[in-house]
Amino acid sequence: MVYLDHSATTPLDPEVLEAMLPYLTEEYGNASSVYGLGQRARQAIDQARDEVAAFYGVAAKEVIFTSGGTEGDNFAFRGVAQRNAERGRHVITSTIEHDAVLRSAEELEGEGFEVTRLPVDHTGLINPGDLARALRKDTILVSLMHANNEIGSIEPIAELVAVTREHSDAYFHTDAVQSTGKIPISVEDLGVDLLTMSAHKLHGPKGVGALIVRSGVRIQPQIVGGGHERNRRAGTENVAGIVGLARALTIAQRDMPKNTEHLTRLRDRLIEGVLDRIPRAELTGHPVNRLPHHASFLFQGVEGESLLLQLDMAGIAASSGSACTSGSLEPSHVILALGYPRERALGSLRLSVGKGNTDADVDLLLDQLPGMVARLRAMAPISAA
Ligand code: PLP
Repeated sequence: MVYLDHSATTPLDPEVLEAMLPYLTEEYGNASSVYGLGQRARQAIDQARDEVAAFYGVAAKEVIFTSGGTEGDNFAFRGVAQRNAERGRHVITSTIEHDAVLRSAEELEGEGFEVTRLPVDHTGLINPGDLARALRKDTILVSLMHANNEIGSIEPIAELVAVTREHSDAYFHTDAVQSTGKIPISVEDLGVDLLTMSAHKLHGPKGVGALIVRSGVRIQPQIVGGGHERNRRAGTENVAGIVGLARALTIAQRDMPKNTEHLTRLRDRLIEGVLDRIPRAELTGHPVNRLPHHASFLFQGVEGESLLLQLDMAGIAASSGSACTSGSLEPSHVILALGYPRERALGSLRLSVGKGNTDADVDLLLDQLPGMVARLRAMAPISAA
């Protein structure tokens, strides 16, 4: 199989597995236990926390381990809203966020908060001027993603944070699930108060992530029980997962120059090849400010879902932003937010490469895709007009 869906998830790096294995086998202690076995687990978590902190340029106590990106996003929204509601009940986010953010925002609306959803331009970028106009005295949280999962666009977070600081006392959260490990990130340079990441997007294990919370940020714990994570997130620590997460970050940091070069080259071959060979194909997202591994397209007159099935039969794994919910095909909210009509938005395809991909993988895709698009167009499920 040729795997071109690294924005969905990534294979576990063998080095990560090796780091995790002792904590899945003989080092099974509970990090809260006083005897040696438990204390070794505690040390492993402490070391992992230091590594995560070093990666983002924050203090170790500002790292809270979670079960992944969804929990981090939920935690940021609920936790900040509950602890700061007396200061205001207005929250700002964007129309292109991941569902973990969008659904959290909807939930707050149900509890009487007001939510402003900023639009994006045709390339998926948020306009800092729009944010400046949306900020109010009672805004307590701004949550804007660092890079988009469907179209790869990288948002100008430092600039958006500066605008936020100028006009309000709101906290700034960024969902950095897709950008972590792909582009350099310094929490200090971005200026954010909270940042969500997830290990499985960068060759780490699934079901583990971190929420960075800068010192002084008022946030209400969402999972209560024991005193884990400095009383901010209860539950016996996922020691192997945490060790794997930290190792994945360390490897990503170490190999970033090499990987960026490799990924960018494959991505650019995909983009140029697809646009050259397929008429009425369009790149979605920003042409330059985009993740190094991410290529996303619209094909006029084609259903993305049908294309995925054809690709699967040819042994190629990719994804489309549209989803089949209760029997009817729904276009992606992200592609719609770019201003495309529904029929066009249905024809989306995302190809995201990883460090294990080769030129031969790109060749196969470029060889197969044009014929598939042509055949689907001939069947004309959607008007090719
Ligand atoms: N945020 C973004 C931008 C994502 O792409 C994802 C994963 O698809 C998530 C959040 C959710 O992360 P997780 O799968 O770790 O819950």
